[in-house]
Amino acid sequence: MTETPALVWFREDLRLSDNPALSAVLEHGPSLCLYILDDSPARRPLGGAARWWLSRSLAALSAAIAARGGELLVMRGDPAEILPRIVRDAGIGFVAWNRRYEASAIALDKALKAGLSAAGVAVESFNAALLNEPWQVTTRAGRPMQVFTPYWRAARERGAPSAPLPATTTIHKATPPEGLRRAALTVAELGLEPSQPDWAGGLRESWTPGEDGAWTRLADFLDGGLQGYRAERDRPDRLATSRLSPHLRFGEIGPRQIWHATRMALEAGKTDGSAADAEKFLSEIGWREFSYHLLFHNPELATRNFNARFDAFAWVNDESGLAAWRRGLTGYPLVDAGMRELWTTGWMHNRVRMVAASFLIKHLLTDWRQGEAWFWDTLVDADPANNAASWQWVAGSGADAAPYFRIFNPVTQGEKFDPEGAYVRRFVPELAQLDPKFIHQPWTAPQAVLEKAGVALGEDYPRPIVDLDFGRRRALAALAALKTEEQLEHG
Ligand code: FAD
Repeated sequence: MTETPALVWFREDLRLSDNPALSAVLEHGPSLCLYILDDSPARRPLGGAARWWLSRSLAALSAAIAARGGELLVMRGDPAEILPRIVRDAGIGFVAWNRRYEASAIALDKALKAGLSAAGVAVESFNAALLNEPWQVTTRAGRPMQVFTPYWRAARERGAPSAPLPATTTIHKATPPEGLRRAALTVAELGLEPSQPDWAGGLRESWTPGEDGAWTRLADFLDGGLQGYRAERDRPDRLATSRLSPHLRFGEIGPRQIWHATRMALEAGKTDGSAADAEKFLSEIGWREFSYHLLFHNPELATRNFNARFDAFAWVNDESGLAAWRRGLTGYPLVDAGMRELWTTGWMHNRVRMVAASFLIKHLLTDWRQGEAWFWDTLVDADPANNAASWQWVAGSGADAAPYFRIFNPVTQGEKFDPEGAYVRRFVPELAQLDPKFIHQPWTAPQAVLEKAGVALGEDYPRPIVDLDFGRRRALAALAALKTEEQLEHG
């Protein structure tokens, strides 16, 4: 311990337990805790739903820090300018943060580290977000991985992740200089939550952002949800997945903690889930790791086709189709239920994300980047790695992607994964009374059945905006044209 103050810079690690940067700073001496809302042009601005989440998560973090004797100082601006100024004014001798993996964040962190070190300040960064750093898992030849199964096998061969660090109980607070205290904002002053109009009612009802909320989710999941996860995780009509994604996105809980809590619950017989359920669940955490691996090695993952072949793809970019898709008015109940679940709660079930994304990209022949951007704005878990990698996966342009010719049929997917239509009924109330036989294809229902259910097609629920067979054939023709063009180019 020294008396020179130290500073921890919180970013996407909004938690007090298993937070190595925080632990290092607290060991060092009296500490300042800082969060900077980075609104510099170099960063992709957060979408609306993620801003709402961030606001709540920062409020929870600030309260948790205060309860342990510390104080979270909140600022807004360019960290490249703010951080060195604070370090200088407060006489900070040691700065720590946990690493991020987007190119703009890496560049910023590198520049800050170099500048602070040159000024004689000790700086250290840590891994709080991943089981393995993106550069730690490679092919035998030392190259980045492109296929999930060998990636995950190699990751597993590295052994169990280290045990999580214990929760912080006491924070020995350094006194911030008067100027810094005056410049600091309250979380509310960041203005992250919507007001006119306030569209966040459904989000408030659905979620409890913050570290405590994350642990409650995990405990509930291990208690009830893990059982049958392997078989049920594709069912949007059941509460069969953890819904930890936004908590992971903002680092309110880390993958090491999830890993060890799952293993311990299994070994202690504290979960009804089987070892196979646990393996499947951890392999989904593995997909998140793989996405970060891809993002780190392909910084333009959200904007550039991983597979450059797709650069010549003839998207039609159907504007009215895109608008109907966004609003959940495509006439395909599973797609519409998903898009409305997204709009209402800021989250969508994974199976439905795949179906909705495939519908936009393939049946509407719209560039996947349009869908990625909408999800970025509306998901509470909008994640720079997972969102981009998943959209490219569905488009067929990504690493280890579903082949482009795999086109999800929203009717058969609905019949398989939402057999009674319970999910559709919840989010598309116009169809709530419809016979399960027709719930995924209301346009095939006899007039009498529609009337009995109080549905006037084309009035209170749309007819399909595109014929599935036509859409499918058009998508396959576009793919064939791409191949022909390639053959012509390459002789
Ligand atoms: P669980 O099934 O409980 O899985 C546990 C955790 O594993 C998740 O919280 C998540 O962190 C990770 N995970 C699960 N599935 C995947 C996957 N396919 N790829 C990567 N990680 C996964 N996930 C995001 O976190 N943010 C996004 O922005 C995002 N955008 C997506 C866009 C599309 C088009 C698709 C098809 C998927 C997207 N996903 C995204 C992946 C997946 O849909 C969500 O992670 C999952 O639905 C979250 O629910 P859960 O926490 O209950 O998952």
